[in-house]
Amino acid sequence: MASERQLPGTARLSRRSLLGGAAAAAGAATLTATGTGTASAAAAREVDVAIVGAGLAGLTAARDLVAAGRSVAVLEARDRVGGRVMGLGLAGGGVTEGGGEFIGPTQDRIKALADSLGVQTFTTYNSGNNLLYKDGKKTPYATDGVLGSVPPIDAAGLANAAIVQATLDDLAKQIPVDAPWTAAKAEEWDRQTFETWLRANAVIPSAKFLFDVACTSIFSAEPRELSFLFVLFYIAAAGNASNPGTLERLTETAGGAQELRFVGGSQLVPVKLAATLGDRVVLGAPVRTIAKSGGKYVVTADGITVTAKRVVVAVPPPLAARITYDPLLPAARDQLTQRLPMASVGKAIAIYDTPFWRADGFNGQVVSDTGVISSTFDNSPPDASYGALMGFIEADAARKLDAASEAEVRAAVLKDYATYFGPKAASPTSFVLQRWNNEAYTRGGPVSIAAPGVLTQYGPALREPVGGIHWAGTETSTHWMGFMDGAVRSGERVAKEVLAVL
Ligand SMILES: Cc1cc2nc3c(=O)[nH]c(=O)nc-3n(C[C@H](O)[C@H](O)[C@H](O)COP(=O)(O)OP(=O)(O)OC[C@H]3O[C@@H](n4cnc5c(N)ncnc54)[C@H](O)[C@@H]3O)c2cc1C
Repeated sequence: MASERQLPGTARLSRRSLLGGAAAAAGAATLTATGTGTASAAAAREVDVAIVGAGLAGLTAARDLVAAGRSVAVLEARDRVGGRVMGLGLAGGGVTEGGGEFIGPTQDRIKALADSLGVQTFTTYNSGNNLLYKDGKKTPYATDGVLGSVPPIDAAGLANAAIVQATLDDLAKQIPVDAPWTAAKAEEWDRQTFETWLRANAVIPSAKFLFDVACTSIFSAEPRELSFLFVLFYIAAAGNASNPGTLERLTETAGGAQELRFVGGSQLVPVKLAATLGDRVVLGAPVRTIAKSGGKYVVTADGITVTAKRVVVAVPPPLAARITYDPLLPAARDQLTQRLPMASVGKAIAIYDTPFWRADGFNGQVVSDTGVISSTFDNSPPDASYGALMGFIEADAARKLDAASEAEVRAAVLKDYATYFGPKAASPTSFVLQRWNNEAYTRGGPVSIAAPGVLTQYGPALREPVGGIHWAGTETSTHWMGFMDGAVRSGERVAKEVLAVL
C-alpha cells in the first residue's frame, strides 16, 4: 500500500543500511543500492560468468563462483535483490514478508545460508487452536490431536483422507527427484490432472475438500491445473538426500515447511548475501538478449552489456522465455518454458495493535472453504509487539482479483478475517498487499507449475545446459523445488556445473 515504506529487499539499499540491522529493522525509507553497482554506472563488463537474476538462486551461484576465484556479474531487473523473497516495511515500524517466508526440516541449504549470514530463525506461532471454517460453521481444532493438525471433518472423510495421503506418499517414493519423467509409471501419471486422480481416490466430499485446500495452499493452483506426476514429484522433493519427501512435510507448521521464520524478515538473507558480492550485483538491469559471439556470450541488459564465458539464467522458466537468445534455443527448451506458467498468488497482511486472536485461543491458522482467503497464519514478530494476520490469495481467488483495486481486495480480505476472528479483525491499524501476478519480473507464484504432458515430453530440458548457458532457479531443484531451499540448492548445483567446465 502506498502508506507503507519499503524495506531492505524492496528498495535500493545502501551498504550502510545493510550493515546496520537496527536501521534496516526500522525500515529507513531512503535505502539505496545493495552496495552494488547500477546499470548506468557501468556500461560494459567482461567476466567469467554472467548471472541473470539476483534472487536466492542467482546470488548463491555468484557466491560459490566468487569463492572459487571466478569473476561474475549478476544482472537484476528490479531495483532490489531477492526476487520472490521480499520485505515489506510497515508504517508503524517493523517488517513483514510479501513472498517467501517459512522454512522447515530438511531445508538444509537455506538454513545453512542464513546461518552463514547471521540471520536467525524463530518458531512460527503455533500455540492454541487452528480454525476450520466450512459450510458457514467455525470449528476450532488442536494442532497436536491424534490426527496431528488434520481438520475435523466427518469420520468417513478422515478415513478416506488418511488412505489418500498414504497413497500419495507411497507413489511419491517411486519418483526419482532428479528425473521424475523416468519413473516407471511416469506416462500414466502425467496423462491425468491431480483433479482427475483425486476424484477417483478422494471419493468422500469432505476428504476431497481437504486435498483441494492443501493443493491451493501448496501450489497456489487448482488441482485441475496440475499434472499428477508433477504433484508426486513435488511431494517427493519435499525432503533431502536422506529423508524422502512427504505430503505432511509440505503442509505442516510444526515439523513441516512452515515451522520457522527469520528474525528481521526473510529478505535479510538475499540482502546480506548480495552485500557480500558488492558491485558485482547490478540492479535495474533487465536482461533482454543473450547472444553467442565467437567463443563468448554477450548479455545485453538495459544500460549494461556483459561479455562472459558462461551464462547462468536464474529466473523462473516463463521469465527466461522472455529473453531473446541468439542463436535460438533448442525447440525442447523453448517449448518447455512455454509450458511452465507461474501459479497465481498474493499475500495480504493486516496489522493490529496486538495478536488478539491468541487471547481467544487461536494460533491464527485457518482452513476455509470460502472467501478470497482460504488459509492464514499469525505473522506477528517474535516479541508480539504488534499483531499480524497473513492470508494467501491463491489460484482462482487470486485471478478473480487481478484487476480489482487495492481497496476492493482489502475489503474482501478483511471481510474474511472478520468472519474467522471476529469484528476486531475488520479494523487493522495498517494493511499491506503483495500481488505477484502483477509483478513484471515474476508474474505469479510461488512457483512454475506443470500440466499433464509437460514433464514427460520436456522435463530433460529443465536443467540441460545449452552450449555455455546454464539454468538455475528453484524450478530446477531436485529437492524443495518451489521453495527458498530449492533456489539455494539450484544455485549451488549450477555453480558446480559451471566450475566443472570453466
Ligand atoms: C507469495 C509467495 C510465498 C512464498 N512462500 C514461501 C515460503 O514460505 N517458503 C519458501 O521456502 N518459499 C516460499 N516461496 C517461494 C520462494 O520465494 C521461491 O522459491 C524463491 O524465492 C525463488 O528464488 P529464485 O532465485 O529461484 O527465483 P526468484 O526469486 O524469482 O529470482 C529471480 C530474479 O530474477 C529477476 N529477473 C527476472 N527476469 C529478469 C531478467 N530478464 N533480467 C534480469 N533479472 C530478471 C527477478 O527480478 C528476480 O529477482 C513463496 C513465494 C511467493 C511468491
